[in-house]
Amino acid sequence: MAEDDNDVLRRRYASERAKRLRQDGNDQYGELKGTFARLLDDPYGERTDRAPKHDHVTVTFVGGGFAGLVTGARLKASGIDDVRIVEKGGGLGGTWYWNRYPGAQCDTASMIYLPLLEETGYMPSERYAHAPEILEHCNRIAARYGLHDGALFHTEVTDLVWDPRHSRWIVRTNRNDEFTSQFVGIGTGPLHVAKLPGIPGIGEFAGHSFHTSRWDYAYTGGDPAGAPLDRLGDKRVAIIGTGATAVQCVPHLARACGQLFVLQRTPSSVDVRAKQPIDSRWFAGVATPGWQDRWLENFVANMSAAGSPSEDLVDDGWTDLAKRIRGRLAAPRSDSAGFQDLLADFEAADFEKMSEIRARVDTVVKDRDTAAALKAWYRQLCKRPCFHDEYLDAFNLPSVRLVDTDGSGVEQITAAGVVVAGTQYQVDCIIYASGFEVGTAPTRRYGFDLTGRDGVRLSEFWSSGMRTLHGIHVRGFPNVFLVQLGHGGNFIANVPHNLTDAAKTIAAVVTHMQDKGYAQVDVTRQAEDAWTRQLAPNPVMTSFLTACTPGYYNNEGQGPSPHSLLVGYGGGAPAYFRYIDQWRSSGAFEGLKFSTTVP
Ligand code: NDP
Repeated sequence: MAEDDNDVLRRRYASERAKRLRQDGNDQYGELKGTFARLLDDPYGERTDRAPKHDHVTVTFVGGGFAGLVTGARLKASGIDDVRIVEKGGGLGGTWYWNRYPGAQCDTASMIYLPLLEETGYMPSERYAHAPEILEHCNRIAARYGLHDGALFHTEVTDLVWDPRHSRWIVRTNRNDEFTSQFVGIGTGPLHVAKLPGIPGIGEFAGHSFHTSRWDYAYTGGDPAGAPLDRLGDKRVAIIGTGATAVQCVPHLARACGQLFVLQRTPSSVDVRAKQPIDSRWFAGVATPGWQDRWLENFVANMSAAGSPSEDLVDDGWTDLAKRIRGRLAAPRSDSAGFQDLLADFEAADFEKMSEIRARVDTVVKDRDTAAALKAWYRQLCKRPCFHDEYLDAFNLPSVRLVDTDGSGVEQITAAGVVVAGTQYQVDCIIYASGFEVGTAPTRRYGFDLTGRDGVRLSEFWSSGMRTLHGIHVRGFPNVFLVQLGHGGNFIANVPHNLTDAAKTIAAVVTHMQDKGYAQVDVTRQAEDAWTRQLAPNPVMTSFLTACTPGYYNNEGQGPSPHSLLVGYGGGAPAYFRYIDQWRSSGAFEGLKFSTTVP
């Protein structure tokens, strides 16, 4: 394959994409309902009995992950004591409560990924922290700000109804709670509704099975801290999926299983990880006042294809591609160079990067057919880029077999195992590394609807797509704050940056209201319209994603989704963070309308 011929690469990318395009898009996946609901049971915490709540709180936050923790922390630091987190898990941590699979680790540098490091005075132990340390940090934040107090665990909100007579929300849950709250924050996370691959016969399997977000250590042995999975020595295991989760847990399974089959539909791009511990002397030099904000700003600047940041503090695989694009854009060009040349530079930088990633496969994987099948033929940001130093090497073990489905997916599941191209692979256990819902409607992923002013349901208000101000406020849903990435910075390489920034905005708005004695905050129609208009998709991203292999970044290749995670501020993430900082600190809160009395 001629890696230096761009036309050949373009044709190969297009043919690989065509193999994977399906009419059913997001509908190809199955929900964990009915007989599969048991796969969602919490293996990590016992549900304890408690009496239903019928009281009033100032703030209710739905979701105890990073969004709830950072918002709760900022509110508490602003003097709002009365914050109640409602969480479906048995503890705080969100993603990091659920994802305890072996090898789980953050792929974004700890210095910018772990929130509130400066406020908690914590030094991460590794450049890319492992899951137990991240979960511990979640609990550190909670302890520092008193967020465990009053939190309702193993509790799911079922209904939120605005009570205009008292300017408050009525919160109902699946534990028969019915309490009121002046403000409601929603931060359920972009990836929390586990999904199953829609494989015929999936209900027939007679062996053991589980989803990676509910790792069954009772079956595998071992623990999240890295103890070997010592009950798998005599087991044949199939793992379905080769996304970021599988890339991290496959090396652990490979070492432990009698036989491991890795069922692949699309290979991930797997770049170098280069793990290293954080040196306390180095950290002491870095951790001067304001350091984490400086790092966050520096990373977002380096992830942008425009501009010319003078240094790259994180300097890893994430910033590498943007750096290459900037390098090409800075090269001398003719006066007539236009938009097409910009696209060509972007593409050339990507070809170069992906060729290196494919070449790496050949240097690690010994079997030539396996190496060929592990190469990703698409542009790096079409799918979540992965980084790992042991994943590829796992395929050199005699007990590990890559079963590549050439883009078509597993053909069938039977009582005895999995079928690909007519061959049945008998297994004792199937592990679903099949990911989470992304492109579906937000209220479906929240798991509840909101009934706002005049009885309008949020699902109806957003039936043709989200409408917000700054991705935080929604007109007609007073005193509600969304904490997520869409419509704002939309900075997917470092999701926590979006969340910590939204938390600052919310704390500023709530404090302002308390200072002035306001009871309600809503959005003006004019502000909502103006914000929604400027969210017009970036033409470079649209052209790029349209040609991408299907995945959740491009709505499974179905064209733009009204619920897309990838719609953000028209000017890009660095400009959004600058804009919102000024908006917040001006104190004018333009676009919001406050009122003291019941309308
Ligand atoms: P993904 O959605 O990325 O992966 C799901 C996998 O299942 C894909 O390989 C998909 O193939 C495969 N699949 C789906 N249907 C079938 C089928 N019928 N037959 C065979 N294979 C199938 O889920 P993950 O849990 O891996 O990751 C989700 C996200 O979570 C990541 O993108 C990342 O944002 C985040 N994450 C972050 C981590 C970190 O920071 N370290 C670690 C892990 C996850 P195909 O590609 O063809 O659709």
